[in-house]
Amino acid sequence: MTDTAVGTRVSADEAEQQRRGLMLVLSSPSGAGKSTIARLLLEKEDNLELSISATTRPRRSSEVDGVHYHFLDPNRFEQMRAHDELLEWAEVHGNYYATPRGPVENAIENGRDILFDIDIQGTFQLYEKMRDDVVSIFILPPSIAEMKSRLYRRAEDADDVIAKRMKTAVGEMRHWSKYDYVVVNDDLERAYENVRAILKAERLKQARSPKIGSLIQGMVDDLEVELD
Ligand code: 5GP
Repeated sequence: MTDTAVGTRVSADEAEQQRRGLMLVLSSPSGAGKSTIARLLLEKEDNLELSISATTRPRRSSEVDGVHYHFLDPNRFEQMRAHDELLEWAEVHGNYYATPRGPVENAIENGRDILFDIDIQGTFQLYEKMRDDVVSIFILPPSIAEMKSRLYRRAEDADDVIAKRMKTAVGEMRHWSKYDYVVVNDDLERAYENVRAILKAERLKQARSPKIGSLIQGMVDDLEVELD
C-alpha cells in the first residue's frame, strides 16, 4: 500500500508547497566575505530567513540586538542551554554562540528555508541531529592575503582579536571536505550566484517533497486509464 491511494492525489502546486524547509549553512573563516553573501541571499531570495544566533560576545557598533544576534549575558545563555533551548552551541574566540531551537523547528516544519551563519563546530552538531535537512557550504577567501586585508579593512576588531580569528581560520579550513559544497569568493557576484544555484537545486531535491510520489502516481494512473 502506498500513499497514492485514491483521495491522496495532489496537484503539482501542492507537492511543491508541502516541501519541508531546508537548513542552509554558510561557514567560512572570518574575512572570506560570508556575511555579504548571506545578506544578499536574504535580500533577494523569497522564503529564506536567518537563524538569529544567541551570543555572549559584546555587540559591535554596527550591530542591532535581535537583528544580527540576540546578545545575552552568560547566565541567560547557560539557562537556555540547561533547558535544551539550543539546537547547537559552541565557544568561538572566547565567547559562546548558539542557535535557538524553536524558530528553526518552526521554519522547516512549515516549509520555510533557514540560513545559518555558524562555525564548523555548530555545523557538525547540526549534522548529528538533522543531517538530511542540512545543506552546508564552506566559503573560501581567494587567498590568505585577501582575507587578512578584509579583516583589517573592516576595522571592527582589535589586532589581537584579528590574530585569534586567523588562527581559528587555519583549523577550520582543514575541515573543508566535510562540507557539501565549497565556494571560492574571488568575485562576490559569482560566489553569490553559485550559492544561489546550490539553494535552487537543493530545493528541488525530490526527497524534500514528501508528496512528489503522490503527484507522480496520479499521473501514472491517468496514463494507464488512457492506455486501456
Ligand atoms: P562573529 O563574532 O564574527 O559574529 O562570529 C564569529 C564566529 O562565530 C563566526 O564563524 C560565526 O559563523 C560563528 N557563529 C555565529 N553564530 C553562531 C552560532 O549560533 N553557532 C555557532 N556554532 N557558531 C556561530
